[in-house]
Amino acid sequence: MSITPAIFPELITAIDDSIKQNADAVTELDQAIGDGDHVFNLQRGLQALQTTSIEISQLDWPAAWQKIGMVLMASVGGASGSLYATLFISLSKNSLNKNIDFQTFADSFALAIEAVKQRGKSDVGEKTMLDVLVPVAESLKTAAQANQDLATSLTQICQAAEDGVENTRNLLATKGRASFLGERSLDHIDAGAKTAQLMIAAMASVLSK
Ligand code: ADP
Ligand code: MG
Repeated sequence: MSITPAIFPELITAIDDSIKQNADAVTELDQAIGDGDHVFNLQRGLQALQTTSIEISQLDWPAAWQKIGMVLMASVGGASGSLYATLFISLSKNSLNKNIDFQTFADSFALAIEAVKQRGKSDVGEKTMLDVLVPVAESLKTAAQANQDLATSLTQICQAAEDGVENTRNLLATKGRASFLGERSLDHIDAGAKTAQLMIAAMASVLSK
C-alpha cells in the first residue's frame, strides 16, 4: 500500500471527531439495549491512541497495528476493547511482510475478522459490530479483486457498513449484554455496529482526499 502509517494521526483525529459528534446518539442506542458505556469505552481508547499517534506514525504497518492493539487492550474496557485489540494484533501477525498492497490488506483484514469472531465466540447475524465488520471485509475483498479506483472502492465499503448497521435493527441479539433482553432487543440498532460504521466512514473520508 502506498498509504503509510504517517497518515495515522489524521485518521485517528477524524475518527475521534466523528465519535464525539455522534456520542449522544450512540449512547442513546446503547442505553436502549446495552449498559450505555460503549462510547465512553471507545473514547478512552481513542484518547490513548491520540497520545501515541506520533509514535505510531513512524512505524511500519505491522508494528503500527501491533502497537494500536496493545494500546487498545490496555485502555478500553468492555467487550469492545478486547475485540478491537484482537483485530489489530491479528492484522499485525497476518502481515509480517512489510510491503502491503490492497489485496494483501484485504486478505489480512478478513483473517483478523475471523480472529475477532473466535475471541467473541460470535458470528455475523448476532447483532454486534461483526454485522458491520464482516460485510466490510467482504466488500474489501471484492474491491481489491475488481482493480477499480480507490474512490469507488471506498464508496462501496462505506455502503456495506451502512447496510450492516441498518440490518442490526432486524436481528435478535444473541451475544453481549443485549442478549439478556431476548425479543426486546429487536427494532434497535446495535451501538457497537454503529460505531464501527462511523469509524470506517471517518477513515474513508480521510483516505479519499
Ligand atoms: P460491554 O458490552 O462489555 O459493556 P461495550 O459497551 O464497549 O462493552 O461494547 C458493546 C458492543 O460490543 C456491542 O454493542 C456489540 O457490538 C459488541 N459485542 C459485544 N459482545 C460481542 C461479541 N461476543 N462478539 C462481537 N461483538 C460483541
Ligand atoms: Mg457496554
